[in-house]
Amino acid sequence: MDGSACDILILGAGPAGVSAALTAHARGRSVLVLGADPMRSPLAKAERVGNYPGLAGMSGRDLLAAMLGDLERAGVRRITGRVTGVVSFGGSFMVSAERDVYQAKTLILASGAGQGTKPLPGEMELLGKGVSWCATCDGMLYRGKRVAVLGLGGEGEKDAGFLESIGCQVLFFDPTQAKNAQIIGTDRVTAVAVGGKEYPVDGVFVLRDTVAASALLPGLAMRDGHIAVDENMAASIPGVFAAGDCVGRPYQVARAVGQGNTAALAADGYLKERDK
Ligand SMILES: Cc1cc2nc3c(=O)[nH]c(=O)nc-3n(C[C@H](O)[C@H](O)[C@H](O)COP(=O)(O)OP(=O)(O)OC[C@H]3O[C@@H](n4cnc5c(N)ncnc54)[C@H](O)[C@@H]3O)c2cc1C
Repeated sequence: MDGSACDILILGAGPAGVSAALTAHARGRSVLVLGADPMRSPLAKAERVGNYPGLAGMSGRDLLAAMLGDLERAGVRRITGRVTGVVSFGGSFMVSAERDVYQAKTLILASGAGQGTKPLPGEMELLGKGVSWCATCDGMLYRGKRVAVLGLGGEGEKDAGFLESIGCQVLFFDPTQAKNAQIIGTDRVTAVAVGGKEYPVDGVFVLRDTVAASALLPGLAMRDGHIAVDENMAASIPGVFAAGDCVGRPYQVARAVGQGNTAALAADGYLKERDK
């Protein structure tokens, strides 16, 4: 476990996350930004961002790089990793990414669109009972055993190679096959069904580029496939805030940046109240 608890952990290093981090840092809060490779943000695909004041005409990649540069210059701590678990206890949050666990007093979810991604049949029921979201974390448990890799994201094939290298017998399914897969088992995984055929396995790795916040935080209220928030960007769980595309349309950089700022101010206010 990473020993240092921070005031505000921000999930996602896109425009909303960067904006929230800069504001929280300016308020004197200890901040950690934890997110997948930011260059995989949808913004990196924008050839030209035509409507962001002052920087109109910049490519999405350059705009993201400029934002990340601001973060670095401000000295905000940022770690690249896929968040696969959040546990809330005793007024703080334990957040797992790859093999590490980070502790925070509040969370700002800035995880982008796609929060409504439906889990596969059997996935949530058998999570931790043969279903894993992280090859690096759980691979060794399946050494010498037969596992299915449902490669729903770009890293699936690489992770399948890693599992093979540590001695797992791997059945790899690409995104087209994996998206219609079903995970079978009662108390533990026993098989996967793909394309009308059943394959007996000991474990199943469901590998997406990101794990939706709704899956990370059971009980988080959703609205139309997005995280439900109030006017201060507070989500339904005390101490959790959300900003950007993950809270709804329109999906726009200016909106994400504004909401990130509001969420950071609200998280700061929440901590002040709590620590009175
Ligand atoms: C082709 C294209 C063109 C666009 N053009 C424009 C434009 O001209 N103007 C405009 O205003 N907007 C445009 N947009 C929209 C804009 O990109 C988004 O509104 C903006 O990126 C939203 O920022 P965000 O921070 O909310 O989310 P994102 O930029 O999506 O960032 C979220 C980050 O969180 C990470 N993440 C999510 N879950 C996890 C997890 N479990 N673990 C680790 N990391 C995680 C994601 O990988 C991502 O990096 C465009 C989008 C596309 C696709």
